[in-house]
Amino acid sequence: MKMSINENMIKELRENSSIFRAVENLEETVWINDKKLPYDEAIAQCTLTADDVASAEARWARFADFFKVAFPETCINNGLIESPLKELSSMKDALSEKFGAAIPGRLFLKMDSHLPISGSIKARGGIYEVLKTAEDIALSSGLLHEGDSYACLATDRFRELFSQYSVAVGSTGNLGLSIGIISAKLGFKVTVHMSADAREWKKKLLRSKGVRVIEYEGDYSAAVESGRKEALKDDHCHFVDDENSKTLFLGYSVAALRLKNQLDGMGIKVDASHPLMVYLPCGVGGGPGGVAFGLKTVFGDNVHCFFAEPTHSCCMLLGMATGLHNGISVRDAGVDNMTIADGLAVGRASGFVGKLMQPFMSGCYTLSDERMSMLLAMLADTEKIFLEPSALAGMYGPVLSSTDSGMRTYLESVSSPADATHIAWATGGSMVPTEEMEEFVANGNSYF
Ligand SMILES: *Cc1c(COP(=O)(O)O)cnc(C)c1O
Repeated sequence: MKMSINENMIKELRENSSIFRAVENLEETVWINDKKLPYDEAIAQCTLTADDVASAEARWARFADFFKVAFPETCINNGLIESPLKELSSMKDALSEKFGAAIPGRLFLKMDSHLPISGSIKARGGIYEVLKTAEDIALSSGLLHEGDSYACLATDRFRELFSQYSVAVGSTGNLGLSIGIISAKLGFKVTVHMSADAREWKKKLLRSKGVRVIEYEGDYSAAVESGRKEALKDDHCHFVDDENSKTLFLGYSVAALRLKNQLDGMGIKVDASHPLMVYLPCGVGGGPGGVAFGLKTVFGDNVHCFFAEPTHSCCMLLGMATGLHNGISVRDAGVDNMTIADGLAVGRASGFVGKLMQPFMSGCYTLSDERMSMLLAMLADTEKIFLEPSALAGMYGPVLSSTDSGMRTYLESVSSPADATHIAWATGGSMVPTEEMEEFVANGNSYF
């Protein structure tokens, strides 16, 4: 059972923590992590290592032959699921003008919104966990051998094997989409337990691919709990546990190795005097946490990672800043977990990710739904890039690095701000239907 918070603890938090008060009052806020450690110390006490990231990368590589056959759209990247890194100059100018503060350094967008197969960051961790499940089953069945080309996994023989197993997941939408699509393709029976805030088109798309979709009245946690319970009854069912899965986490982490290649290819230096500032939209924490962990193993003290959350669903900021992690929910602060950013609508963060990432993270910040909407419309207007609301949470970080005194002081303590490279991690959006996207953009424009 989750620890419960009593009245006295709330009173004490209210008195002693300005972050808690900001959360209660739904104020946009920045928290700089005073428990961050130098990389060497943080990694020394961590249960995961750079070798874990490398072995996840190797598993992705083994599946490249499968992807080239099963998802031909991945051929341009040689069977790897990867997204572009794009420099934003018009958006940078527009942000500087809008917020009256020039953003120091260069600004890039990591477009996981445009990852093949499922159009969101979940195409990293979600798909990876299903691949590992399939590989384990295939190897132990004796039908697949070490060194074989994994193209065979796209044949009927293996589909038949996997059809004796099932996969289940609880999701606000995008994780369900990723797991549903890859599981159905491999031949697994798959059930996605969807929370009330999941979009209708995602359910429809999944059903069209033969995925069983079960809908819940409650939020993400309710969907996960029911999914977990149902899956436990069946020992041929693999439940993807978004809150606690190390496999999922490591699937995401491989993004860091790919990003390093992209930065090298573009001639962008990352070192002590050229810091990399990365802003990651955060829900339960696995996606952004996994990416941030990978980045720390690659760039060490030269990368600075921030989680970005809606004011109404700021579970990671609340958990990390109070040190209570999954022992506190936004509801304990009277916050409703209602946001247009459906990918971030999580009231209680993953305890596994919060505790693991505490010594690595530079901080967390929150922004309002209105702010996300406005940023969505600005990006559509200036760059013709269309993202879902969640994906814009990271876009506010570069602005804060000049407008927020805490964030600015942090950056200045690291290096000369003009030498920084900012990356807003765009976590989803390319699969959103046109009419829905037009509504998002119109809604954003209505705030100007
Ligand atoms: C899932 C998701 C996130 C956050 O990932 P978590 O693992 O839940 O923290 C961010 N943006 C989008 C679009 C997502 O779908």
